Amino acid sequence: MAMIKVQKGTKDILPTDMPVWHFMEEKASEIFTKYGAKEIRTPIFEATELFARGVGDTTDIVNKEMYTFEKSERSLTLRPENTAGVVRAFIENGMHRLPAPVKLWYKGPMFRYERPQAGRQRQFHQVGVEVFGIKQPTADAEVILMAVNYLKALGLNDLSVEINSLGCPDCREVFKTNLKSVLKPYLQDLCPDCQARYEKNPLRLLDCKVPECKEIYSKPEIKAVIQSDFICKDCAEHFNELKAYLDNLGIKYSINKLLVRGLDYYNRTVFEITSNNLGSQNAVCGGGRYDSLVKNLGGEDVPAIGFAMGMERLASLIEQKEENKTTTFIVCNNMTEAVKLTEELRGNGVTAEFDLTNKKFVKQLEKASKVAKYALILGEDEIAQNCVTVKNLETSEQKTVKRSQITTIF
Ligand code: ATP
Ligand code: MG
Repeated sequence: MAMIKVQKGTKDILPTDMPVWHFMEEKASEIFTKYGAKEIRTPIFEATELFARGVGDTTDIVNKEMYTFEKSERSLTLRPENTAGVVRAFIENGMHRLPAPVKLWYKGPMFRYERPQAGRQRQFHQVGVEVFGIKQPTADAEVILMAVNYLKALGLNDLSVEINSLGCPDCREVFKTNLKSVLKPYLQDLCPDCQARYEKNPLRLLDCKVPECKEIYSKPEIKAVIQSDFICKDCAEHFNELKAYLDNLGIKYSINKLLVRGLDYYNRTVFEITSNNLGSQNAVCGGGRYDSLVKNLGGEDVPAIGFAMGMERLASLIEQKEENKTTTFIVCNNMTEAVKLTEELRGNGVTAEFDLTNKKFVKQLEKASKVAKYALILGEDEIAQNCVTVKNLETSEQKTVKRSQITTIF
């Protein structure tokens, strides 16, 4: 029969990969908890409308990349990202009543129907943070600091932090108008995606990866508009304060005026962290401020800022880690005694296994040396004398201890 294979763009995370994944997850919990963030887990599918409204119906994610299906006449979608779900949960559970800021972190699988390639999967994982309730740039600085310190804790270096300010809806309107007017003569030469963006979401034009479009956007008269300081006084002040905080914290960054990010609802601060050790899919973290989203999804007027990181991309940058061996393997032909000792060790927090098939002693020892650090030999003599022979499988050192003391030596 034909073998059924893993789906294109999806991957098994195997036991040998697990030490790196556990490391990423444990560090996330450790670092984000230090900043006062609490973990949240939202469902993997949500109403399709949540993403249409929460991510934005002019984005690639909503237009092309969603896994949408119907059940009982409801349109449901596998989450392509977790900000919308976290915001929904924030609103639904009245979290705006909690003392601000409310800091939440999450980890889990996301689904996007994309062209699979290195660093780009259809099911992938993100770890992320959302901070609600603070409009001041201190929150922006703290969120960037959380991201940077998490990446540091993972031992990653050679990272670049890029920031930009998209302004507010008011000042952005002026920018959009200027951009559209300077681009008008080139409209026919833009890729079909950009032609659609020109009408619906001109800011996203800057994000285009098509070389012909990029070339147009680097023409002097267009570049001048892109590089112009279009943001209003309040937005500029917010951005300047953020930069001052980052300088004080010693976080190196550069300003990238082409950084617009995928979501429709970002305002003011956006940022991205890239690794110089990855190929073309080099962004490990993307984030930004989304002050209007909570209200747009039916909540109170609560400002917010957050980021998401791609865990597969992080994993590929983290050195492979050794799988943990089982601590003890019981070598014994008396199954009753073997089970008793194994359970006693497990009950005392020691990992323990024994040979379920009751093979010959030598075979059991062979297996022990493959999977465990210690062989606990329980032969007829040991059983008769109420003791256990402990063999260190790395050094081959051997000693006999009293049966009653065995759980105390690991
Ligand atoms: P990109 O420009 O790489 O498509 P994006 O803007 O779509 O990124 P975000 O939605 O901001 O990405 O997601 C944050 C992070 O999640 C990215 O920086 C990346 O590390 C990771 N990520 C996004 N899409 C994928 C994917 N299809 N496969 C693996 N990781 C992904
Ligand atoms: Mg994308």
